[in-house]
Amino acid sequence: MSVIDAALPLATLTKQVVIGPDALTHLAEVVTTHFGDAAVVVVADDITWGVAGERVDAALRATGRPVLDALRVPGNPTRVQATAENVELVKAFLEPLDVAAIAVGSGTINDLVKRASSLLGRRYMVVATASSMDGYVASGAPITVNGYKKNLPCDAPIALVADSEVLGSAPAIMRASGYGDLLGKIPSGACWLIADRLGIEAIDWTLWPFLQEPFRHALARAGEVAAGDPDATAELGQALILSGLTIQAYNSSRVGSGAEHIMSHYWEMLHLGGDWDPPLSHGLKVGLGTVAIAALYERILARDLSTLDVEARLASWPTEQEREAYVRSVFPHPDLVDEAVAQSLAKHVDAEAMRARLNLAKEVWPTLSQELREQLQPASEFADQLRVLAAPTHPRDVGLTLADMRAAYLAAQTIRNRYTVLDFAYETGIFDECLDELFAADGYWGSQGD
Ligand SMILES: [Zn+2]
Repeated sequence: MSVIDAALPLATLTKQVVIGPDALTHLAEVVTTHFGDAAVVVVADDITWGVAGERVDAALRATGRPVLDALRVPGNPTRVQATAENVELVKAFLEPLDVAAIAVGSGTINDLVKRASSLLGRRYMVVATASSMDGYVASGAPITVNGYKKNLPCDAPIALVADSEVLGSAPAIMRASGYGDLLGKIPSGACWLIADRLGIEAIDWTLWPFLQEPFRHALARAGEVAAGDPDATAELGQALILSGLTIQAYNSSRVGSGAEHIMSHYWEMLHLGGDWDPPLSHGLKVGLGTVAIAALYERILARDLSTLDVEARLASWPTEQEREAYVRSVFPHPDLVDEAVAQSLAKHVDAEAMRARLNLAKEVWPTLSQELREQLQPASEFADQLRVLAAPTHPRDVGLTLADMRAAYLAAQTIRNRYTVLDFAYETGIFDECLDELFAADGYWGSQGD
């Protein structure tokens, strides 16, 4: 039994995953299994139509089932975005039709069809065209609403088909993106360990084994993924799908998304690389976020927090008003800061609760720090892996300065009500010191220059 087959029973919504060589030859039977002889329609963009959409459409017509004319989401296909406007466009197309949608695409098309189908109370399935991120079978879709990226609730696809040859022939930048997203599972696991040991959010130990081991094997094949090897790219895709299934089973992206993802979401809010063609992808931002967060972990792990002076920290623990003023100072973006304030206050606790948390942190630090060391690897190693795929590893690779990077750490800590290492650094009072070290002349970032 494959690791995916072992994980599928834990997932609540996705019933079947077919990934590997010749997966597309099983498409018609997968469609029949889940939709009977109902009418179907392909939703793609101009690129994914050429990559697989046309074949999917033709293969289904050949079975004699009703297949309506496909929707190709308009616009420059390398720039189609997961926005509320595009969700409306797909929903308006599907609404009058009595059909099940088959999304053919990488992340964006899937997110649009996922959200639109869910709003219509319908199930859909997806044919993946790239191992570019882990959201295919996740419940929920990251959609940009009024400039603020939100993970909107919606049901995962009932089935997924991914053909190795199609995945391997996806553009190198998409394979690099999937690799970056998968790399982020390592620091995100570390963030969950902290949240667990501090009694904030317990690790689901049923899901944990599906997350960590298979990922490391797939990540060890960076060179093959870079070369477009179908088997290595399919293994990368399988690990990403596994991540999606565990997100579905846990009903939250916590299982695969920690501080590195929050860094990525911050850059997304600022539309970093949004005007590139193709736009700077989620996974490439997560890859850079992974390097940044690993570097922060190194500074934290250089400290013995079992000797933390809790009362000294509490002497400057902010009230809600002070916390709000702080958020406004580190995230001075007029359109977005109110949401950041709301997210920050939702995770703000009073001094009494913070005393208990910090005392617990001191107590568990000897074990926790060891667990974190075992979970993580040095920032420079993450960067080396990403470089094999020509993915960004330094702020300059995405048009940012070191000052922008420092600002990103501070702002990222404020924008999401999810406990990560960013909160841990802030709450223990070592955040600024750690950043000073990272950006000092001999620090991880400082030594590399702008
Ligand atoms: Zn991701």
